[in-house]
Order: sequence, then C-alpha cells, then structure tokens
Amino acid sequence: MKPAPFEYFCPDSLDEAVVLLAGRAAEAKLLAGGQSLVPLLNFRLLQPAALIDINRLSELAFLAEDRGGLRIGALTRHHALETSPAVAALFPVLSEAMAHVAHLAVRNRGTIGGSLAHADPAAELPMVATLLDAEIRTRSAAGPHTHDARDFFTGPLSTVLADDEIVTEVFLPALPPRTGSAFAEFSLRRGDFAIAAVAATVTVADGRITAARLAVAGADERPLRLDEVEASLAGQCFDADLVETAARLAGESVNPFTDLRASADYRRHLVAVLARRVLTEAHARIAVGAA
Ligand SMILES: Cc1cc2nc3c(=O)[nH]c(=O)nc-3n(C[C@H](O)[C@H](O)[C@H](O)COP(=O)(O)OP(=O)(O)OC[C@H]3O[C@@H](n4cnc5c(N)ncnc54)[C@H](O)[C@@H]3O)c2cc1C
Repeated sequence: MKPAPFEYFCPDSLDEAVVLLAGRAAEAKLLAGGQSLVPLLNFRLLQPAALIDINRLSELAFLAEDRGGLRIGALTRHHALETSPAVAALFPVLSEAMAHVAHLAVRNRGTIGGSLAHADPAAELPMVATLLDAEIRTRSAAGPHTHDARDFFTGPLSTVLADDEIVTEVFLPALPPRTGSAFAEFSLRRGDFAIAAVAATVTVADGRITAARLAVAGADERPLRLDEVEASLAGQCFDADLVETAARLAGESVNPFTDLRASADYRRHLVAVLARRVLTEAHARIAVGAA
C-alpha cells in the first residue's frame, strides 16, 4: 500500500519547523529517519494531512560533551551513536545497546529523537535514556522545555509530548566515578525487537554499592526503572547471593504481556536471567576499570 495524500514541508531551520508544526499540530507529523513512521503511513495506520521533514535541520545532528555528560542532537542517527568514541568512553552501555537496534540500514537512518518520540516499549534507546536519567529537551511555539526520561514514556507508542513539541536534544548527565554498566537483550533473531532487554549501572565506594540502576524494555507497556530492586542493592556488599535475590525480585517486579513471540511468564524469567547477567557484568567492569 501507499500512504494517503499529504502536504509535504521541508524546513531549513528549527525555528521554521516550530512555526510550521505550531500551525498544523494536530494534523501534522514530523518525519525524521522514517523507519517507524513510513511503515505506519504505508499501511495507512496513520494518515496525517501534512509531513514536516526535519532532515535538513543539521543543527539537530550533533554530539557534544558537556560537564562530563553528553548532549545528543535529536537528529543524530543510531549508527553515529553506535560508532561514537565519546559515547563509548562516557556511556558504554549506550554503545552496547545500539548494536542491538535493528540492522545497519535502519541504524543509518533512524534517529534518537524519532526513537524516543515513537516510544516502542521494546526499543533500546528509550530504555537506556530511562536508565541514564536522561533529560529530553524540546521546542514548541511556547518555547523550550525539558522532560525527565523517567516521566516521558506513558504507554505503548505514547509519550508526554504535545502535538506541537519537537524533541531537539537529549542530555545524558555524567555517571559517578567507579560506575560500571552493562546491557543484555534476548530477541528471536539478531536485529529483531527485544523480547526483553535489561541494562544496569553499579557504583561502588569502600567496597559497598552506593547506587545501582536497573532498567527493562519489552517487559511492560513502557521502559521501566526497577526502583525496588535498586533500593535492595544500595548500601550492600556485592556478592552472588545479593545478585541472585535482586534478579529474582526484578523478574517479580515486571508486569509483562503475552504475545505471539513469548508468554508473560517467559518474559518474567528472561528479566531475571538478564538482570543477573547485567548486574554481574556491570560490577566486574568497575573492578577492571573498563566502564
Ligand atoms: C526492520 C526494522 C527493525 C527495527 N528494529 C528496531 C529495534 O530492534 N529496536 C529499536 O529500538 N527500533 C527498531 N526499529 C525502529 C527504528 O529504530 C526507528 O528508527 C526509530 O524507532 C524511529 O526513528 P526515526 O528517526 O526513523 O523516526 P521516524 O520514523 O521518522 O518517526 C517516528 C515518530 O517519531 C516522531 N518524531 C521523529 N522525530 C521527532 C522529533 N525530533 N521530535 C518529535 N517527534 C519526532 C515522528 O513524527 C513519528 O511519530 C526498527 C525499524 C525497522 C524498519
């Protein structure tokens, strides 16, 4: 099938895009990499009256270090994240996750802004943004706005974004010293969406965990941080029993769905297995200074 007819706009600047979107908010869609939007248009699951193509907005395609963290422009392609030395040095968990996003052809076009705005519950980027306490910065006719990633995703394919809001950049705050991180995913084939994916950071000082973060994708209606598991790890000495208990709690903390690919019980099992793996790996990476 082909898309229903639409008006096409291709602004040269963010200011122009904001004005165009403000005038047509409810009936327009932004077009970034097109990897999620174009299939929806082709199947006529979406029939917007207008498309605003933001691919000429080179001002939104950047990676910049900032106070030990990273600012990532919304139009930064997945492959640029995957291969960036700055991402690998500062947020290796993001580099690791990117290798699991689809295939190279999709990663060459897909953007971080598109992935966050699309909000697939099994997608890697929303989950890593949630793990890393990202700030999602936007512009609309009302001005700039910042959303915490943890409050950004509201359900399958839905976010807090208003119809006239454009994601402009994502800020990843610096990780504390002595932090290790890891990502693990299970999918049926390489490049498929995750059946479940889990990522962790573990920070230690004086032999104890000072902070741990655990995020999951594919196991709920949106990416989740597992607060109860994180609290169970804080202040503890890292050992296999602690990780086993935390992993079991992780599996019990999610509320997955059953679909053609996996049952809810299997997803719960996977979350526990992957949680054990990423917590162990994240901690090991601190010890060898690799994270
Ligand atoms: C075969 C295939 C396999 C895939 N596998 C995976 C996978 O394993 N994991 C994964 O995470 N993703 C996967 N994807 C999706 C891919 O990562 C998409 O690139 C991504 O979800 C959307 O990014 P995009 O730039 O292509 O956005 P688009 O498709 O252009 O847009 C998606 C949505 O976001 C909105 N949007 C885009 N940019 C902005 C912005 N700056 N501000 C506000 N709204 C915006 C659009 O209006 C639209 O609603 C796959 C896609 C394909 C085709």
